[in-house]
Amino acid sequence: MTGISRRRFGKTLAGGTVGGILTTAFAPAIAPSGKGIQKKKLGIALVGLGSYSTYQLAPALQETEHCYLAGVVTGTPSKAAQWQTKYGIDPSHTYSYDTFDRIAEDDDIDIVYIVLPNSMHAEYSIRAARAGKHVICEKPMAMTVAECDGIIGACKAAGVTLGVGYRLHSEPYTQEVQRRVRENSIGDIHFVSADAAYMSRGNPDQWRLNKALSGGGALMNMGVYSIQSCIYGCGKNPVSVSAQEFSTRPEYFKQTDETITAQFEFPGGTVAHMMTSHNANANRLYASGTQGWFELNPANNYGPLSGQSSSGPLSFPHESQQKLQMDDFAKHILFGSPNLAPGEMGRRDM
Ligand code: NAD
Repeated sequence: MTGISRRRFGKTLAGGTVGGILTTAFAPAIAPSGKGIQKKKLGIALVGLGSYSTYQLAPALQETEHCYLAGVVTGTPSKAAQWQTKYGIDPSHTYSYDTFDRIAEDDDIDIVYIVLPNSMHAEYSIRAARAGKHVICEKPMAMTVAECDGIIGACKAAGVTLGVGYRLHSEPYTQEVQRRVRENSIGDIHFVSADAAYMSRGNPDQWRLNKALSGGGALMNMGVYSIQSCIYGCGKNPVSVSAQEFSTRPEYFKQTDETITAQFEFPGGTVAHMMTSHNANANRLYASGTQGWFELNPANNYGPLSGQSSSGPLSFPHESQQKLQMDDFAKHILFGSPNLAPGEMGRRDM
């Protein structure tokens, strides 16, 4: 173990609370708020025009059927002008962080999508809810469980719908393995393995390496995919977890975790192993049951994903995951279809 610093921690999870979430709050919500329900397409405002908004969400919003890009919130006036020109956004639907609360008066904005550094998710989600707008909050939902509670409470108080930017819940390979688990088609699942990692070599001053802005490193960023995979890979919520942190590049990862491995124990004895890292490449979900197995590899990038199983390969046409995700959220509001990634799910993962 020369050159490797290592920290261990373990936790017994509150089985009653965590377990309850899977069976109750994730049941299809069929009574969404009536806001915007008379409209054919809901207007979305993106808050934060960084990489994910620019290269994934805005292009996806050119393809969505039930929502469209109606406004932007940015601290950079030159970006506002560029987006107005590129996407035909009227200046009246453009806000700065200072003028953001005026969005309450903007009837063309139904949904506010928070795409900011993690430390800003709670504040802007709560302000969006108080402005009477439905909220999509990017992952990880917030910095702490208390912040998640604040977001969920603000959305409930305002009567607006809350979703987390968990795009994979709208993705067909992921939906297929979730279906197989739900229908018990590989029998009792005894083992799950899930990895989500990429090699970070970029600017050492980026917000993802700054704990005050990110809340943590690999675990907060890619770890949510491993945690999610472990949970939907066996269809249960864990009752205990033990984890180890590894660091080989402390000069780069000064404030945030580099690599985390963890073992989850689930009711009935299912065990799941997960890895997440900002210093390795991995992208996989594997589950083994008494009557078979499945594997997604890759399992959590923007797609197309790919899958195998003991009963043959999986094959689905590729569509933008972000398009599917935002349309699913809009359909929940418009037609009462299930909210596939509600705030309670983001809170559970936190
Ligand atoms: P980014 O750094 O590219 O963009 C962040 C945006 O926030 C920029 O426009 C920046 O100007 C703005 N900002 C406002 N205040 C800031 C501050 N104090 N420091 C730094 N930036 C500030 O980041 P990104 O990759 O677009 O990620 C944004 C969010 O989206 C994160 O929460 C991230 O986890 C999430 N995300 C999710 C996915 C997904 O697949 N669901 C993918 C990428 C990012």
